[in-house]
Amino acid sequence: MTNTQVRAVCPHDCPDTCALLITVEDGVATEVKGDPDHPTTQGVLCTKVSRYAERTYHPDRLLYPMRRIGKKGEGKFERISWEEALDTIAARLKPIAARAPQAILPYSYCGTMGFVQGESMSMRFFNKIGASLLDRTICASAGATGYKYTMGATIGTDLEQFQNAKLILIWGGNPIASNLHFWMRAQEAKRRGAKLVAIDPYRSLTAEKCQQHIALLPGTDSALALGMMHVLIQEDLIDRDYINQYTLGFDQLADRVAEWTPEKTAETCGIRVDEVLGLAREYGSTAKRGEAVAIRVNYGLQRVRGGGMSVRTIACLPALVGAWRHPAGGIQLSSSGSFPVNAAKLERPDLLKETPRTINMATIGDDLLRPASSQFGPQIEAMIVYNANPLAIAPDSDKVMQGFAREDLFTVVMEHFQTDTADYADILLPATTQLEHTDIHKAYGHLYMMANNPAIAPMGESKPNSEIFRLLAARMGFDDPCFKESDDEIAAQAFNNKDTRAIHFDWESLKRKGWDKLAMPEAPFAQGGFPTASGKCEFYSAKMAADGLDPLPSYIAPYESRASNPELARKYPLAMISPPARNFLNSSFVNVISLRGTEGEPHLDIHPDDSAARGIAHGDMVRIFNDRGSFVAKARVTDKARLGLVVGLSVWWKKLASDGKNANEVTSQRLTDMGRAPTFYDVLVEVEKVTA
Ligand code: SF4
Repeated sequence: MTNTQVRAVCPHDCPDTCALLITVEDGVATEVKGDPDHPTTQGVLCTKVSRYAERTYHPDRLLYPMRRIGKKGEGKFERISWEEALDTIAARLKPIAARAPQAILPYSYCGTMGFVQGESMSMRFFNKIGASLLDRTICASAGATGYKYTMGATIGTDLEQFQNAKLILIWGGNPIASNLHFWMRAQEAKRRGAKLVAIDPYRSLTAEKCQQHIALLPGTDSALALGMMHVLIQEDLIDRDYINQYTLGFDQLADRVAEWTPEKTAETCGIRVDEVLGLAREYGSTAKRGEAVAIRVNYGLQRVRGGGMSVRTIACLPALVGAWRHPAGGIQLSSSGSFPVNAAKLERPDLLKETPRTINMATIGDDLLRPASSQFGPQIEAMIVYNANPLAIAPDSDKVMQGFAREDLFTVVMEHFQTDTADYADILLPATTQLEHTDIHKAYGHLYMMANNPAIAPMGESKPNSEIFRLLAARMGFDDPCFKESDDEIAAQAFNNKDTRAIHFDWESLKRKGWDKLAMPEAPFAQGGFPTASGKCEFYSAKMAADGLDPLPSYIAPYESRASNPELARKYPLAMISPPARNFLNSSFVNVISLRGTEGEPHLDIHPDDSAARGIAHGDMVRIFNDRGSFVAKARVTDKARLGLVVGLSVWWKKLASDGKNANEVTSQRLTDMGRAPTFYDVLVEVEKVTA
């Protein structure tokens, strides 16, 4: 019996990017555990990925290429050979590529975060065709855009410092469910005497464990930050020396926040005046004492109309109080901008003959239904979906379904399982999981370059995405040398080792060690050096003005709220958010029986007063609806949801829900103020008891 341990990395869309150790006995992965030596993983995995072997050996794994034999969406397929699958795809794509290459569209996101199985060989393939580009906005682009206006790049406080903070604001996230290794450090900070404050419309698992929870209305986060700045400036709880040396536009900012009195802030946010005052005073006075104040801002708060501006505004706070002077102070949205990624080598945009149009993944519902026009260009005729499940995760789901149901649309899906999207494929291809292929990763919650070694042979006839695109490229007649590169050759180009941050990057040694930290300063902005045009933290942003935006922090009301749209609110009086369920990761893991068993079934959390007003009791089935659609869930009557808010933890596979629908039936395709991102949490609904 052979028994080995293989170094790997969690591929999922999670900031923690854990280092894994895979135990393999006679070619079978028998255990997946966290690497105890990796400084951020610390030997701990979340419940989901500790079940990764169960997911890999799941009886429903797709093992062979298949061709659709039923109606679109019916999910009926028959097995075919790889030869037939690849020949069929090439035969369908070739005439479209010759006539209207932009009619071909890739659709992918972070089903895996790796470069090799994500956007490298795939992008080379689509660039060579001249296919439409995909704007990958579904999760993070609003916040990232806003953060960069203030900070210059998505660089922030190192995860490995948070345990040294004295005050941590956990803003718009639920790290127990989706950023576990940050939560471990926050808990350590708490043990050392720090105060944790959760700012979230919903009393999440995390909010329950913080000393304070501020349950503001969805979409009002920038108002709270503006109100905090008002108090900080009024009460001189700011660091004038840091402001003078390292920031731009303080006087304009002070003028701007003058109107944001604690009273106005409290009214806008739906919270008490003392909560605004207390938060600002605690933040400013802790920093003034020279102790570290840190903010972990997350993506929940940017899924609204003013989401980009919210993050941009919150990102001004640390510079105002000089929090960056301390390694444990500052703010983290994402660490992804710390990595010198060689996108040009991975994706080869030079293969494009001309710049094609860009389709936004957030509006795929409308775009699949658009006819050809001079404004839009050619109708979308073919889609290749990989690392994504748009039928479940894209907003305004009924439109997405109508688009994928088009008989004249040719759809290829590469997947591990027969997801909601796979049911609409013409050709369904089995892809390998992280245990079966090579990859290299950056992280967005820490500073380690990570290597994934294959632990077991591919299951059935599954192939890595990279190999599928390699084979398709050959079928299409693409003979550029880049289409012959092996996965190791691709990985070896991922980071620019001429950049001082990744100066020691060497793929072969990374594969052996599993991980290596970037060379970043401990306190990245203690002496300024912000990667903005001015080199300063920009309270005033000339770039925003040039981009047609308000150059100063401001409040942008939601599209759908009582205050901003009272007429709509009379019809649909409840705000709805749909944050991640603890046992799912976006729409991954929903089909893992042990994890779905823990979640039970789709629920809707509703405040006792809101449920009483509608005659809804705990455990009743309810219909959640608006003009876009409806879905059914079981009511949980709880004050975890503030008055006027309902919460549907997500993202359920539609086919596993009793009505074949999920929360995205009611979400909209309207976009954020910046970053062209979806507004999943900017939704008004009504809820009624299902009587039938
Ligand atoms: S999902 Fe996140 S916490 Fe869980 S193993 Fe992966 S990286 Fe770690």
